[in-house]
Amino acid sequence: MKKVPNSQQNLQPRLIDQFGRSVDYIRLSITDRCDFRCVYCMSEDMTFLPREEVLSLEECARLVKLFVRLGVSKVRITGGEPLVRKNALWLFQEIGKLKNLKELVLTTNGSQLILHAAALKAAGVKRINLSIDSLNAERFKKITRTGDLGKVLAGLQASIDAGFEGIKLNTVLMHGNNEGEACDLVQFAIDKKIDISFIEEMPLGEVDHTRASTYVSNTDTLKLLKSKYSLLASTKTTGGPARYWQVANSNTKIGFISPHSHNFCENCNRVRITCKGELYLCLGQEDKIELLPLLRTYPNDDQPLIDAIVGSMKIKPKGHDFDLRRAKPAVVRFMSHTGG
Ligand code: SAM
Ligand code: SF4
Repeated sequence: MKKVPNSQQNLQPRLIDQFGRSVDYIRLSITDRCDFRCVYCMSEDMTFLPREEVLSLEECARLVKLFVRLGVSKVRITGGEPLVRKNALWLFQEIGKLKNLKELVLTTNGSQLILHAAALKAAGVKRINLSIDSLNAERFKKITRTGDLGKVLAGLQASIDAGFEGIKLNTVLMHGNNEGEACDLVQFAIDKKIDISFIEEMPLGEVDHTRASTYVSNTDTLKLLKSKYSLLASTKTTGGPARYWQVANSNTKIGFISPHSHNFCENCNRVRITCKGELYLCLGQEDKIELLPLLRTYPNDDQPLIDAIVGSMKIKPKGHDFDLRRAKPAVVRFMSHTGG
């Protein structure tokens, strides 16, 4: 019998969708819970999932390993707030050991970073996205409802000291709230030698305001920043909705994540896994498959999961369908459920 070379053993199909887009990036939400209640992300009164409906950390690790076998090279751990999940560090350590994974990254609100920054770096986390919407303690509290800006800034400093390859601030600007802080936040990023992205508010889940009333367009923010800074268009791309500008004579790039534009969908390279094990093929559409029943029915056989994941590529939609003028959100689930 012909011998199969080592390099071809375990060869798995790659994840290519019906439009020829290759999926090599997963975002995994490891909890829907959070210690903050940001006004654009959650309603004041949230009901969280019962524990048995949430993936165990072992189930999260198993899924990530499978996706990496299927060619995924970048994994973002998100939530809810991933660092409020007990023993989350174990998961980062497990994922950090995967040989074929190029990038393990994290999105966090920063509240626990002072405790975990060094250990996350040691586990193999390359880059951190840290959400900060205001540098004014009172406004920060108003936006997050429970957050302590001092603690988050201390967590940011601990992350800078830990020496991650990259740190980026994520900011959602809201009309009538923090929209006047764009320049201060950019100057803060320049001073700290880190990057910053402005994310347009997305209609995900029902919150206590209408999205159209707070919407700030990234086009306007870019115009404002260009009047103050010399910005050079950057070629950097992550295959997502972000476009980057380099601030001249600084280490800082400014990203603009503009989900209301459809332009980025044609290069979409990502899927999302919720903390319930739902594999969402698009942030802005309902198309999904359920991985939790397969994980629990076949604890020792990965093939049914592999078949389902590969098969899901047939239903990845062409693009999202966000429309701010709708009275109801296009997608009823919160970002904290799907994972940002
Ligand atoms: N708790 C972590 C954090 O805040 O970074 C991770 C999860 S959070 C859902 C991920 C990102 O989604 C954050 O940067 C947050 O600002 C953003 N986000 C949440 N809801 C959003 C919405 N409706 N529109 C736009 N961005 C949103
Ligand atoms: Fe929590 Fe992040 Fe949502 Fe804020 S944006 S409520 S920190 S999950």
